[in-house]
Amino acid sequence: MGIIEPKCFAGEQPGTRLIVLGAVHGNETCGTRAIERVTAELAGGQLRIVRGRATFVPVTNRLAYQRGTRGGDRNLNRHLAPTAAPADNEDRIANALCPLLADHDVLLDLHSFRSAGSPFVMVGPEDNAGDLQPFSQAARERALALRLGVARALDGWLDTYAAGAARRGGSAAYGVGTTEYMRAAGGCALTLECGQHEDPQAPQVAYRAILRTLAHLRLIDAPDPPPAARMEGLRLREVVDRAHPDDRFERAWTSFDPVRRGQRIGVRHDGAAVLAPFDGAVVFPDATAAPGAEWFYCAQPHPRLSR
Ligand SMILES: [Zn+2]
Repeated sequence: MGIIEPKCFAGEQPGTRLIVLGAVHGNETCGTRAIERVTAELAGGQLRIVRGRATFVPVTNRLAYQRGTRGGDRNLNRHLAPTAAPADNEDRIANALCPLLADHDVLLDLHSFRSAGSPFVMVGPEDNAGDLQPFSQAARERALALRLGVARALDGWLDTYAAGAARRGGSAAYGVGTTEYMRAAGGCALTLECGQHEDPQAPQVAYRAILRTLAHLRLIDAPDPPPAARMEGLRLREVVDRAHPDDRFERAWTSFDPVRRGQRIGVRHDGAAVLAPFDGAVVFPDATAAPGAEWFYCAQPHPRLSR
C-alpha cells in the first residue's frame, strides 16, 4: 500500500488530465468527503469520464488525517519537493505526490479554514516570464476559478510570501505548496477553500466544484457551467510578521475582514500601532504565530479576478 492511494478514472477519448486532492492538511476533510462521493458515483456508473483522465487522492496526508491535525511532522503545503533522502512523513509523501502532480495538467486542491467565512479560490500569478514563478496559463486558471461556484478569488500568494521570506532571510522555496509545484511542472492549479473546517456545507461546496471542473474540462459529458456573475477579486500585497510574543491583535480578526488605510490592526509589544497599509482586507490572521513568522496578510481589491 502506497503512502498516497490515488484513484484513477480514464476516458476512452484523449483529453485533459485532472488531479483532485483532499486532506493535504489532515484536519481539512471536506475534500475527502466530496471525493468519496464522486468516486462512488464514478464506480457506480452514475458519472462517467469520457475524455482524459481524473485522478483522486482522497487523503493526501494520511498521518495528519489520522491524527486530525494540520500536518504530520510538518506542513505538507510548504517546501513541497522530492528529496533523495526523505527525513519525515511529508518528505515521503512529496516523493510520491510530486511525480503524480507532474503527470497531470490541472490540479484542484480542496481545503477548509479555521474561522467562519465564505468559500474562496486561490489562483496563481498572471502570465509572466519572471524568475520566481514564470507562468503562461493564467487565462485557463481564471476560466476554471470563475466556474467553481464561489464568489471570492485571491491571488498574489507566492510573490507576497517571497517578499516576506526575503525580509526574514528565508527562502521563497519554502512557499511552494501543491499549486506552486504543479505550475512549475507545467500545469495549472487552484486551491479551493471550501468553508470552515466543521461547516456541514463545505463537503457540498467541494463536491459541486469537482463536478463543475469535470464539466468545464470536458472530462464528463455535461454543459460547461456558466462563469460566476459576481466575483470579489483580491490580491495579497503584504505580509506582516509577528515580532514578539506580546505583539497582539486589536481584535479577533477573521480572513477578509475589511480594513481602511491607517486602521489599527494590532499593537507591538512596545506599544507601537500596526496599521493597515491600504484600504483592503486582513487575510490569514494568526494570533498564535511564532515570533518571526507571518502574523497576517493584507489584500487589496484587484480587477483581474473581479466581476
Ligand atoms: Zn489547508
